[in-house]
Amino acid sequence: MIELKSAAELDAMREAGKVVAAALSAVRAHAVAGVSLLELDDVAASVIADAGAGSSFQHYHPRFAPTPFPAVICASVNDVIVHGIPDAYELAEGDLVSIDCGAHVDGWHGDSAISFVVGAGDPADVKLVSVTERALDAAIAQCVPGNRLGDVSHAVGVIGRGAGYGILRGFGGHGVGRAMHEAPSVANEGTPGQGLQLRPGMVIAIEPMFIAGGVDTHYAAADGWSLHTSDGSRAAHTEHTVAITESGPRVLTA
Ligand code: MG
Ligand code: MG
Repeated sequence: MIELKSAAELDAMREAGKVVAAALSAVRAHAVAGVSLLELDDVAASVIADAGAGSSFQHYHPRFAPTPFPAVICASVNDVIVHGIPDAYELAEGDLVSIDCGAHVDGWHGDSAISFVVGAGDPADVKLVSVTERALDAAIAQCVPGNRLGDVSHAVGVIGRGAGYGILRGFGGHGVGRAMHEAPSVANEGTPGQGLQLRPGMVIAIEPMFIAGGVDTHYAAADGWSLHTSDGSRAAHTEHTVAITESGPRVLTA
């Protein structure tokens, strides 16, 4: 069942979204060569705590995972697509980093992710990040009443495929609300005009996950969480929590 949120509830969700945006912005500002992923996790944890919010990720324990998630961010470097656990690894020039963060305020969640390159980086990595951002923007533009979920998914998929990238199979976006993960699932490929009709008050997280080498496949690391590209190529991930409103898309994690 898909819960529609009232205007007041969307305003409450925006408060959670602001905390997530601030945490990601702080992490981005600290992410230079020599800084460890654990330090980045501390930065995000401080922003969340200072705002009086809670982490959506810490202790999260979905069925597929062997252990509860131990951090407030996912930090996924280079061939890690998503769900990387922050550790002592220190960033190096040219690393392609994806940071995913979730926070809740008054019981409402926000979920967002960014990708970036440390330092100047390889132009191919910079392009991968910008195409992933463009796919997210195009999908957000489809979040208007009367459109269908397939329009959102299609917007992501055509941009990824058009650039020759793979699209992580079996993972995608989701509804967001009083739980971080709610119905519906938001696939990263779809058919325009098909699927659930979008209505004011729906809130979805849209999250393109593109793989530079063109494969759609991954393997899970021994930690049971981090998903690596099967061909060793790099991957990027961007995400926003978006509300469908009468006046168009409202990005709650901007
Ligand atoms: Mg996320
Ligand atoms: Mg998400």
